[in-house]
Amino acid sequence: MPIFEYKCDKCNAEFERVVFGSDTRGIKCPECDSDAITKQMSATSFMGASIGTCAADAPKGFS
Ligand SMILES: [Zn+2]
Repeated sequence: MPIFEYKCDKCNAEFERVVFGSDTRGIKCPECDSDAITKQMSATSFMGASIGTCAADAPKGFS
């Protein structure tokens, strides 16, 4: 199941949530209970995207 990282725009707390489907509504910051949160790219996805920008050969194991 997908785990997404979120960052609170209010207090900058970072936290993770397991998200089923595309239902990301109702997610709130565990620190300040704000719903002003931004979805982050996971570290793995971020690295894969960075590496993959310069070549046609996709990173192995990244699908
Ligand atoms: Zn917060």
